[in-house]
Amino acid sequence: MKYDLVVVGGGPAGMAAALRAQKESVSNILLVEREEELGGVLRQCVHFGFGLIYFGEELTGPQYAERFAIKIRQSNIDVFVATSVVQLKPDGVLVLSGEKCGLLEVKAQAVILASGCRERPLGTIPLTGTRPSGIFTAGMAQKMMNLGGYEIGKRFVILGSGDIGLIMARQLKLLNRDVLAVIEKEKQCGGLERNRVHCLEKYHIPLQLRCTVTEIHGKNRITGVTIKNLFNEQEEFLACDTLITSIGLIPERELAEEVYSDGRLPDWLFLCGNACYVHDAVDDVTLEAEETGRLAAQFVVSGKITKRAKHISSRTGNAANSDIICIGCPKACALIKTDNGFAGAVCGRKDPVPSCLCH
Ligand SMILES: Cc1cc2nc3c(=O)[nH]c(=O)nc-3n(C[C@H](O)[C@H](O)[C@H](O)COP(=O)(O)OP(=O)(O)OC[C@H]3O[C@@H](n4cnc5c(N)ncnc54)[C@H](O)[C@@H]3O)c2cc1C
Repeated sequence: MKYDLVVVGGGPAGMAAALRAQKESVSNILLVEREEELGGVLRQCVHFGFGLIYFGEELTGPQYAERFAIKIRQSNIDVFVATSVVQLKPDGVLVLSGEKCGLLEVKAQAVILASGCRERPLGTIPLTGTRPSGIFTAGMAQKMMNLGGYEIGKRFVILGSGDIGLIMARQLKLLNRDVLAVIEKEKQCGGLERNRVHCLEKYHIPLQLRCTVTEIHGKNRITGVTIKNLFNEQEEFLACDTLITSIGLIPERELAEEVYSDGRLPDWLFLCGNACYVHDAVDDVTLEAEETGRLAAQFVVSGKITKRAKHISSRTGNAANSDIICIGCPKACALIKTDNGFAGAVCGRKDPVPSCLCH
């Protein structure tokens, strides 16, 4: 089987890249997605906060994803869902494994790797104690609750203040669960200022900075954790039945390892979305992926690579040079107070939401 372009991953990056490549006249495209449905991580993100920059309106994750999935369904892009790409060979052959296609080899002229990222597991940090049930990464907890409908616990501690952890803290609080604390080893919150204010401050969830979890207690189910203050070394025991970790994301690009040579990607291989680096905002993912789709299409047509896609940074906020940070969208514009209000918003919003006004 042969395709001009194969896109690995049907999240927002993969869908935007495939659609753009098709717009640039590549007609023979295959999109491969490991899950049963297109949409990537957005399918489980039921909160609002997506699309302000790209669509100029605030959508939930599933709504944002569906706008692209509809376009994919209306296009003549071939889509294999419930299918994993298990190998990428140096000659541009992909090995697919899926219920319907079995083990299948596909030759591609160009490949876009849009496989997203995975969560850093608890095993990567030094922790004593037992390993009972009731410990989840934030993304897994989100998936189990929002896609599976599971009840995962009642009394929570969250380790790490990454955005997914903050969003889960708020969701749990809204479901009337006890969220005892978010524990962060650094001096400041790891997630976006917008999420710190909207998810923690607004719901009075304590953020314990310069602290970490040093021990897990419990035999079958977790019964508590020891929290250590890294500044004064004092320890405290927090009784909980669930620990959620939000300690970082790692781009998922092992497939590219076999085809790297001299530290370079081959010209026919393009990376976009969280597989390239972890993005704060999906709007940036979409914009970059569209550019990647355009460049991959150019390669398919000309056989030459002109340049790689530029990275778009979502965080524009620079607290040192501003009076206040806007938390209206993930761009987090650095605002300066003026006689008429605030200046310095670069995201295009007409109504900046300065963080201090939300306290
Ligand atoms: C909890 C959470 C909250 C967020 N909140 C916001 C927010 O409020 N606002 C905002 O703008 N952004 C938010 N984001 C960020 C945004 O959702 C991500 O940046 C975006 O989804 C990344 O898109 P992606 O396509 O690169 O990766 P993903 O969405 O992860 O998609 C990658 C896809 O590739 C598939 N895949 C991986 N490997 C293979 C393989 N070998 N074969 C086949 N398929 C494969 C996966 O199954 C997946 O569907 C949030 C993210 C998370 C996790």
